[in-house]
Amino acid sequence: MNQQLIEKIVGEVLGQLTKVNSEPKQQPVLPANTIPIAVSARHVHLSQEHVEILFGKGYELTKKSDLSQPNQFAANETVVIAGPRGSIERVRVLGPARSLTQAEVSWTDAMKLGIKAPLRESGNIAGSGAFTLIGTKASLYLEEGLIIAQAHIHMQPQDATNLGVQDGDYVTVEAAGIRPIAYRNVKIRVSERYRLEMHIDTDEANAGLITQGATGYVVRPGEVSQKVVEGHSTPESIVNKQYSFTKKLLSNDDVRDIEASEIIVEKGTIITALARDTARDLGKSISVRK
Ligand SMILES: [Zn+2]
Repeated sequence: MNQQLIEKIVGEVLGQLTKVNSEPKQQPVLPANTIPIAVSARHVHLSQEHVEILFGKGYELTKKSDLSQPNQFAANETVVIAGPRGSIERVRVLGPARSLTQAEVSWTDAMKLGIKAPLRESGNIAGSGAFTLIGTKASLYLEEGLIIAQAHIHMQPQDATNLGVQDGDYVTVEAAGIRPIAYRNVKIRVSERYRLEMHIDTDEANAGLITQGATGYVVRPGEVSQKVVEGHSTPESIVNKQYSFTKKLLSNDDVRDIEASEIIVEKGTIITALARDTARDLGKSISVRK
């Protein structure tokens, strides 16, 4: 390794150490358009009539745990959802009982069940998938009610004002994790009863390697995401481009300068720790040429 390379590496290591020491345990300041993301696993909402058919006359759902939205809870009760091709056991019932029975599943689930389910907003079940529910006392065949839930954001009127959106609007939400992703046609739902939170299903979460506790941010039409969250997003101009890096050392500066989301280095190329950090912050990947 030549002297210049060594100096460059030492410089970056020192820079890293200084950075660590000078900015300890500081919580990142989240921009105003940050949206907490919650992943909704498959679940069922039941009418009181159907609760009593499935679990017995006079039966009422019992609370297992509170959900993030006020007054909503996960019940101790579970059901089996069955379709012509298969069934899924232990599907959580959410309470309290509603006026309409509805099952929200992922596309993957719907395929396993063999049921054609439309992408719908919760509550809009006319003409949706037919399915069978099995409880502890009986089973129930329903002509409609199985849907794939449309991604949406619950928020209070003040959140809507802050974000410049209205109830019923559709927005794009980007999440810049290790596999950056944009969710389009995300419906805004405004109510005093809500708490700011985006709900996506497990297929959507898996596509972006999203886990509970992740955040996204609303991108308004015409806005470039990079301006919205400095250093934690991938501008559209660099998405899906590859760059072949041929030098012996990939530094922090190189990662910043390369305008591609995928940096391919030669075997044996030295990648500094800071370069890796920067790549992660910028949503760029570094891989070795095979
Ligand atoms: Zn929701």
